[in-house]
Amino acid sequence: MKLTESKIKYAGVVGMGRSGTAAIRLLTHLDYFVIAFDSSPAAVCTMDVKKTVFGDFTDTDLKDVSVLVLSPGVATTAKIVVRAKELNIPVISEVELACRNTSSTLLAITGSNGKTTTVEWLTHVINLSSVEAEAVAAGNMGYALSDAILDNPLVPVFVVELSSYQLETTTGFHATSSVILNLTPDHLVRHGTMENYGETKARIFLNQNIGDTAILNFDDTLLEKYRNISGGKQLYFSLKQEVPAGAWMDETGYLCYKDETQNVKVIHSDKLALQGKHNIANALAVICLAVSYGIPVKKMISGLIGFKGVAHRIEPLGSVRGLYWFNDSKSTNVDSLKVALESFQNKVILIAGGKEKDTDYSVLNQLIKHKVKNLVLFGSGAELLSKQWQGAADIHIHKNLEDSVEGVLKLAESGDTVLLSPGCASFDQYSNFEERGDHFKSIVQALKC
Ligand code: ADP
Repeated sequence: MKLTESKIKYAGVVGMGRSGTAAIRLLTHLDYFVIAFDSSPAAVCTMDVKKTVFGDFTDTDLKDVSVLVLSPGVATTAKIVVRAKELNIPVISEVELACRNTSSTLLAITGSNGKTTTVEWLTHVINLSSVEAEAVAAGNMGYALSDAILDNPLVPVFVVELSSYQLETTTGFHATSSVILNLTPDHLVRHGTMENYGETKARIFLNQNIGDTAILNFDDTLLEKYRNISGGKQLYFSLKQEVPAGAWMDETGYLCYKDETQNVKVIHSDKLALQGKHNIANALAVICLAVSYGIPVKKMISGLIGFKGVAHRIEPLGSVRGLYWFNDSKSTNVDSLKVALESFQNKVILIAGGKEKDTDYSVLNQLIKHKVKNLVLFGSGAELLSKQWQGAADIHIHKNLEDSVEGVLKLAESGDTVLLSPGCASFDQYSNFEERGDHFKSIVQALKC
């Protein structure tokens, strides 16, 4: 049932960030009076709402609320969520609110790593496949689905990036095709165990039925238990072996696809513009999603080849002062640092650091020995990283990115590759990874002068 059909006209929105603001916009459009909640007394609401409750709330504030919409940053253990549930107020995610109020097709992507790349890649492939096709990327990548459906009411398909946080409170979400790209330990503080984390991710397949498609990484053992989860069609993708149905890379490097109607070679992996095996895996996921959306294989080739990647993900910055610079500021955990290092054939000068995560960084020691010429560490995690990576490579510690780049210039020889792939969050010195990556790019650009 659409929320517009509800008789009660008050809705609560928790969290005043991008998603919360978009939810307020959509609810207002649906003629709801909105009460805006945020646990921070200093929160700011930029929208016109009935009432703001910042800091502590009381039951009176929840009295007329018929639905509580959560931003992804709000945990289900938050006091307001617990109380709303006790008061039998339905609690839904912003994505679910949007999903209930659009009739466009949704193609949904989740996973620990690769979500934004795959979302943008698939959107590119769909948009290049024919003149009529039009897809808009939305969700966790920075354009809330609630905003996207209001801004693009006639768009036939949204490619939606979903984080585990967004899936946590999702019950009625329905995507015609959904994929889990991979599952590695991240966000365990919120989800507790890998099992909970996996179960949360698998909510992306909720409500799928005949005619829908569930897609899984066949190489990821943690995803084995979700095989055959689909109420409709099941596809897989693999870098290592032919799959029962779906896409895989064969021993000669060709990306292949098969299902009950076709068995075809799509393109050779050499043709892709993006570096690294992880991006071949992303391309295989894109092929499965695009086929399931109805795009013929030969119509997806130019989109597969032409996609140049997303900023801050092993983004080439060109040659400056005789060195090849790459910005991988999006690398905020051990796994993304690992895949970044694996993407390079030759040894790199690695700039890493930032706000360390509570994980074992020493698992990268062997890889660092093989792939890293010099290690340049910065930020609050530098000391910890240097302890865990002691002996794996030559280590230099600096306070910040400017000093790190200065340090690199002293170490580097002409032709070296310099990779910023922090493996850590950015919050010690920046508001987010984009700000960190943009800062790095500006430092590198300034070297040209
Ligand atoms: P997300 O949106 O899930 O955070 P991104 O597409 O932004 O993922 O990529 C983030 C980083 O994750 C990239 O810089 C890359 O190092 C790594 N990555 C991308 N795709 C994959 C993949 N399929 N498997 C593992 N790591 C990946």
